[in-house]
Amino acid sequence: MTQLSTNQDFIDLENKVAAHNYSPLPVVVEHAEGIWVTDVEGRRYLDALSGYSALNFGHRHPALVQAAKDQLDRSTLTSRAFHNDQLGPFCAALSELVGKDMILPMNTGAEAVETALKIARKWGYLVKGVEADRAEIIVMDGNFHGRTTTIISFSDDPEARDHYGPYTQGFVSVPYGDLAAVEAAIHDNTVAVLVEPIQGEQGVKIPKEGFLPGLRELCTDRNVLMVADEIQAGLGRVGTTLACQYEGVEADVYTLGKALGGGIVPVSAVAADADVMGVITPGTHGSTFGGNPLAAAVGKAVCDLLASGEHQENARALEGQFRQALEALVGQGVEEVRVRGLWAGVDIDPGLLSGKEACKALAVKGVLAKDTHGSTIRLAPPLTITAEELKIVTDALAEVVAEARQG
Ligand SMILES: *Cc1c(COP(=O)(O)O)cnc(C)c1O
Repeated sequence: MTQLSTNQDFIDLENKVAAHNYSPLPVVVEHAEGIWVTDVEGRRYLDALSGYSALNFGHRHPALVQAAKDQLDRSTLTSRAFHNDQLGPFCAALSELVGKDMILPMNTGAEAVETALKIARKWGYLVKGVEADRAEIIVMDGNFHGRTTTIISFSDDPEARDHYGPYTQGFVSVPYGDLAAVEAAIHDNTVAVLVEPIQGEQGVKIPKEGFLPGLRELCTDRNVLMVADEIQAGLGRVGTTLACQYEGVEADVYTLGKALGGGIVPVSAVAADADVMGVITPGTHGSTFGGNPLAAAVGKAVCDLLASGEHQENARALEGQFRQALEALVGQGVEEVRVRGLWAGVDIDPGLLSGKEACKALAVKGVLAKDTHGSTIRLAPPLTITAEELKIVTDALAEVVAEARQG
């Protein structure tokens, strides 16, 4: 094979031999550190996507890389057929961080959601007393919870769902943020409501104030589990450890992922109290890699970073600057912005630019971001970003829309 040296060489090879399930921007990353990535031709970009929040602490955070390196020299995989000396400390740290008795470790986000759905159903049958095979779970329109067959069964995104049937039964979808609709959908067989505290893939859609507290109350009243998918919204992104906490809400079950692996290895988990997690008994659920010592060591180091509170604090401190800079663009080529912590959805005027075109133009200016659903772009810089660096992001976007307006 001839030597690959340019961005285009790598793009051509990838297009030939890697399945086309993504349509990436034409940037080939070779090296990454902190908030910066460098492509194979030496161009540097500020990463304002952070791997969809998987890189909340930036690329190769020294404490996380150290934890991984140390563990690589000890043990990496034991299987759960044996105990390992990393799993207990990791689960203890995560339990403490999110305020739940017990942790079930998995690998990817979708697996954590699948696990939570199984736990909710089983809790429904064994604890709530729902009739066999009749459990129902309420989900939200516009949801994104991953890519498995069960999860896409209750997606309303045709791209994610079409041609993958037959679909898994037992889910009803209601409009996001509509408390009355949730209430109307609850009946005797309802075991859980699955909700993203903020819908990330949908373009950082923030529910109306009072929705999450209202949902909490409703779930308690009707003996239904509130399952919060914090995989993208949680672990510091909005300025609190969990996005539910921003609204003063505690869910019954949390799914966690993405940033839990520190951008190094896939680590996901379900967190719940013992009365719920207790339905899981030996042999009834598992994963070859879930809870492996390398993942646990990295996950524990992530929990330690979050326990200090400094990253949540930085997200809170920069929220005002972020919002102000983005709101200044509304009416100037931007239709609407939604900001919470260091997370923003920006709706570009579709007559001006598509989201993809805006992201391409941002990349030319050295900022990486990702479009979603047409003309929305999502900004989620690492929580380690400074005020000056954040200004690079918002200035670049201001230039992109100004230049598009000039034609
Ligand atoms: C990314 C994501 C998932 C799925 O995580 P994977 O690791 O890609 O399987 C689930 N829920 C939410 C809210 C997500 O953002």
